[in-house]
Amino acid sequence: MPTGTCPECDADVHVDLDTDKGEIVSCEECGTDLEVVGLDPVELDIVEEESLDEDEDEDEY
Ligand SMILES: [Zn+2]
Repeated sequence: MPTGTCPECDADVHVDLDTDKGEIVSCEECGTDLEVVGLDPVELDIVEEESLDEDEDEDEY
């Protein structure tokens, strides 16, 4: 089973073989939600759930 590294706590995070990019996995050590951004090798990014005002009022181009 492939593993990635949690960017939050550096723990090994197991990723299912059928996991696709963009799916969310949780770190077993710290509970952080992590988005799968790469599969070979597995890369994980922290999901920022607290950015509530994202995608709002962004039309200032
Ligand atoms: Zn972690």
